[in-house]
Amino acid sequence: MSEAYDAVVIGSGPNGLAAAVHLARAGRSVHVIEGHARIGGGTRTDELTLPGFFHDVCSAIHPMGVASPFLKTLPLEEFGLEWIHPEVPLAHPLDGGDAVVLHRSLDETADAFDASSAKMYRRVFAPLLGKFEETLTDLLAPPLRVPRDPLAVMRFGLRALPSTLASARAWFGDEKARALLAGNAAHAVVPLDRPLAPNAIGLMLMLAGHACGWPVAKGGSGRVSGALTAYLESLGGSIETGRRIARMEELPRAKAYLFDTSPSALAGIAGECLPASYRRRLLAFRHAPGIFKIDYALDGPVPWTAEECRGAGTVHLGGSLDEIVISEREVHRGIHPERPFVLAAQQSVCDESRAPAGKHTFWAYCHVPSGSTVDMSSAIERQIERFAPGFRDRILARHTMNCADYERYNPNLLGGDIVGGASDWRQLLARPVVAAHPHRTPDPAIFLCSASTPPGGGVHGMCGYRAAQEAMRGVLAKT
Ligand SMILES: Cc1cc2nc3c(=O)[nH]c(=O)nc-3n(C[C@H](O)[C@H](O)[C@H](O)COP(=O)(O)OP(=O)(O)OC[C@H]3O[C@@H](n4cnc5c(N)ncnc54)[C@H](O)[C@@H]3O)c2cc1C
Repeated sequence: MSEAYDAVVIGSGPNGLAAAVHLARAGRSVHVIEGHARIGGGTRTDELTLPGFFHDVCSAIHPMGVASPFLKTLPLEEFGLEWIHPEVPLAHPLDGGDAVVLHRSLDETADAFDASSAKMYRRVFAPLLGKFEETLTDLLAPPLRVPRDPLAVMRFGLRALPSTLASARAWFGDEKARALLAGNAAHAVVPLDRPLAPNAIGLMLMLAGHACGWPVAKGGSGRVSGALTAYLESLGGSIETGRRIARMEELPRAKAYLFDTSPSALAGIAGECLPASYRRRLLAFRHAPGIFKIDYALDGPVPWTAEECRGAGTVHLGGSLDEIVISEREVHRGIHPERPFVLAAQQSVCDESRAPAGKHTFWAYCHVPSGSTVDMSSAIERQIERFAPGFRDRILARHTMNCADYERYNPNLLGGDIVGGASDWRQLLARPVVAAHPHRTPDPAIFLCSASTPPGGGVHGMCGYRAAQEAMRGVLAKT
């Protein structure tokens, strides 16, 4: 009997949808099965607080979406996706009413620092920016490959290798420049005194800011998955929601199965289709600490003391380099920081469709130990009030989610891990296991396509795209 589909994708996060789109574009029959009632995984938008306030439940800011070598090739604007760029990508307020800003322009960013830090900023970033596209394409490929531009990758690697703490102190005397690097590196959810991952992720985000900006999706991040879905359906692909898969036997017949799931879920679902030794390695995959998030409906804009923060899409609230280093270190030691590093987004400053006229949405989270159910609302609000006194008076409603809430919402977010697995240097290379073709498994029909594969977390679709390429080169090439 012939298979019903060429490929079945389990999970409709941005990676599952990217995999499905790539296969459907190649003329393959594809069916996506999503466990949640709605498609999208980490790209959904909901009225979480009050009617008329549209909040991004997970992802909000999309430097990697707009820069993604795969998403860039898709006609997603025709299917409802519009990127909106705030006045400035990122602001980072400091005590005393000052703020450091990541502008689109490298020079404008550097000019705010003292002369020697400005010179160093240009020396570090300008050569990397000149080769941004080439470097990004190489860095978003599986790690054990010969890069297309080895020199550019080597230049990036030399800057990324040391810890952020060491680099920030060696490169910059100016506290503002140090804080800017630290805030970006903290997206890695790895302590900033560890090598490679924090600096690599921080540098890449800053370069993306200079090269492409940090946009939001007009109407909400749900438009990213909405556009991918609409495009997929236009190519003949089909989608089914509200069906959580627990065993291979529940799946329709197909030549290839692509799992947009955690490694442990794949091990459980695939069972004896995969050798016990490989399943053990999947189960040994380590997850990152979790997050606690608050979505606010506000009566007006956030009353930032620093003018520069008012038009920024993203705001990093954590003060100095040293302060951010301590708070991220505490999280990894199982401590809930009193002064957490807070990542905040104010989508409604550039996207009026997010809230009723004159009102605003505000999205803020901090890192917490894995699985935490501690309410971090007060700690987060103290950090916001520190840089925006009077913030609390603007709150109309709030909606919170802790690690357990996130894991219930999406089984990929194990213990509240939002990056698909710890992204320290070992798991940047071994994602989910050390392999030349990490999206493949020992069963030629089964692939892993989630953020637990290279290149890791973020809305860029590259994990799904790479897994789909592997399926096309492998089991689907024969048919
Ligand atoms: C709070 C938060 C904030 C974030 N902020 C940003 C941001 O601003 N910018 C950014 O780029 N990234 C951000 N991210 C990260 C980004 O959302 C993820 O890296 C990305 O969504 C991963 O995509 P994915 O397709 O691998 O998995 P997911 O998006 O997690 O999707 C997996 C899907 O698979 C489904 N699924 C899992 N198991 C099964 C099963 N057994 N059967 C059926 N369906 C199943 C799930 O229900 C889910 O819909 C954030 C994430 C969170 C949670």
